[in-house]
Amino acid sequence: MSILAHTDTIVALATPTGSGAIAVIRLSGPEALTIVNGVFNGKDLTQQASHTIHFGTIRDEDNKILDEVLVSLFIAPHSYTKENVVEVSTHGSKYIVESIIKLFLRKGARAARAGEFTLRAFLNGGMDLSQAEAVADLIASNSAASHQVAMQQMRGGFSNELKALREQLIHFASMIELELDFSEEDVEFANRDQLKTLVLQINKVLQKLILSFEQGNVLKNGVPVVIAGKPNVGKSTLLNALLNEERAIVSDIAGTTRDSIEDEIIIEGITFRFIDTAGIRDTEDLIEAEGVARTREKMKQARLIIYLVDPQQDDVEEVSIQVADLLLLQIPFVLLVNKKDILTPEALSTYTPLNPVFISAKSKEGVEELKQELLNQINLRHINIDDVMVTNIRHVEALGKTQAALDKVLYGIDNPITSDFLAIDIRQALHHLGSITGQVSSDDLLENIFSRFCIGK
Ligand code: GDP
Repeated sequence: MSILAHTDTIVALATPTGSGAIAVIRLSGPEALTIVNGVFNGKDLTQQASHTIHFGTIRDEDNKILDEVLVSLFIAPHSYTKENVVEVSTHGSKYIVESIIKLFLRKGARAARAGEFTLRAFLNGGMDLSQAEAVADLIASNSAASHQVAMQQMRGGFSNELKALREQLIHFASMIELELDFSEEDVEFANRDQLKTLVLQINKVLQKLILSFEQGNVLKNGVPVVIAGKPNVGKSTLLNALLNEERAIVSDIAGTTRDSIEDEIIIEGITFRFIDTAGIRDTEDLIEAEGVARTREKMKQARLIIYLVDPQQDDVEEVSIQVADLLLLQIPFVLLVNKKDILTPEALSTYTPLNPVFISAKSKEGVEELKQELLNQINLRHINIDDVMVTNIRHVEALGKTQAALDKVLYGIDNPITSDFLAIDIRQALHHLGSITGQVSSDDLLENIFSRFCIGK
């Protein structure tokens, strides 16, 4: 069945599974009101106004009370999905939730697929596609920055800007297509200078958006960081110091790794993700050539490298050679000279020409300074988080394809190309531009996007 078919009534648990104080079961569709009303003991829900809440009981077919509930009504089109939506707040017991959902299913509702509520909101014109995608991002956001970019996109973001430009381009496309009807007469309805100005203007906007992706992606997904350095320089001690110390098991005993802990920290709203931390903890592995090669591979995936040295192991000449090696990777890095606590200021001062941050991973001295240095290195401070930013790989790809098509249009304007080819290129640009906001979409695309949502959203 096409996912575009949405004439039935869907039901899902909107809150997380498991027990909690309350759980919210949500229904959307033409029968939402009557299905709930049929098992609800209280006011006649079909006679109530939108945006009202009603207390009552839900009873099964044997008249057994399943729970005392609050029912919230959102009458079409004044709801998230633009359909009739009923939210039933129950006590947060797994048993109650299951029993009530099964009851609704028996009464004619269908279990909602992942993201189906938001899909309906999109199909019914409640939001465009990029806004719908931002809903998923918002739910997944776990830092101030990722929250901010998702919220901004959900509230319209660059959609409006793109839609306006697209409208103008559509105007030109139709003018040029009109020319095709009069091809014998060699007329020009579409002013080529104006078209060129518009295309250049659109390309400028696209360029700005494409460039924003790198930053936007970092804000949304975090900065991938690798902690590198020779064995025993203090990498895992540092990782522990950076991650919440309390949770970490710092031990000299091999094998006491902390697999369950998410290797992520948030500094001033920006997430830093430490990659390949298992390798760090597995010092043995790093000694072997293969381990070293793997670390290098990982380093290339990082957007930032923390390079740790131990002055007891390597003098400044040695470290200089390592730094020269690092520079070849062309990835920003922070050089740390560790074990400050057991070294004399004189010994440390020999490293000053390399401009490192001196720390003691063990005593956590200098860790705050390191955090500031991490922020400096990713160079996000200058960007205004309120700027419109692209965070979605699908969007940036579509923007790139639009730009490529528009470049052809520009070429077509400046070179003797027939109107029909120009029209094709403009249509191509329109297609890609429209795919971002969903003005152009396919079942496959929608399926792909919405299947990544959680059920109940
Ligand atoms: P890795 O192999 O790079 O992960 O190094 P470890 O974190 O396992 O540290 C190696 C040894 O150095 C351990 O015995 C740590 O306790 C010790 N160490 C790490 N950082 C410091 C530090 O800042 N000061 C001192 N004195 N010892 C440290």
